[in-house]
Amino acid sequence: MASIFTKIINGEIPCYKIAENEHYFAFLDINPIAEGHTLVIPKKEVDYIFDLDEETLQGLITFAKKVARTIDGSLNPIRTGVIVEGLEVPHAHVHLIPIYTEHQPVALGHKIEVTKERMAEIAGIISEAFSE
Ligand code: AMP
Repeated sequence: MASIFTKIINGEIPCYKIAENEHYFAFLDINPIAEGHTLVIPKKEVDYIFDLDEETLQGLITFAKKVARTIDGSLNPIRTGVIVEGLEVPHAHVHLIPIYTEHQPVALGHKIEVTKERMAEIAGIISEAFSE
């Protein structure tokens, strides 16, 4: 059965889309721990990130860097943090976490409330600033 993230890629489940190319896709995490918390995934469905072939893994990091740089430039955090956990969704993904203040909790589980309107606004800001 296709993962929930494959269904997002295929447009079967809605998301706040950030960016996409032939092999990778980025969208806002639905349970953000910071405004602009983004997930970057390979379109190829593989559960464990370190089971990805070298080319796909390297491309994932390169694509994540482009998205992170776009977050840096458009949301102006101090920097963008990276978390890879992968215990909930069996489709490899990188969490990008904008860090706005020195003492901001940067750990999965520290969820914050963000309205749907603000999620859409943030996705618009990042996606409009993104270019390959
Ligand atoms: P983990 O597998 O623990 O690295 O985390 C999976 C992440 O996927 C969690 O932060 C969830 O909030 C996020 N997530 C699960 N379903 C969706 C969805 N439909 N849209 C966006 N993010 C999701």
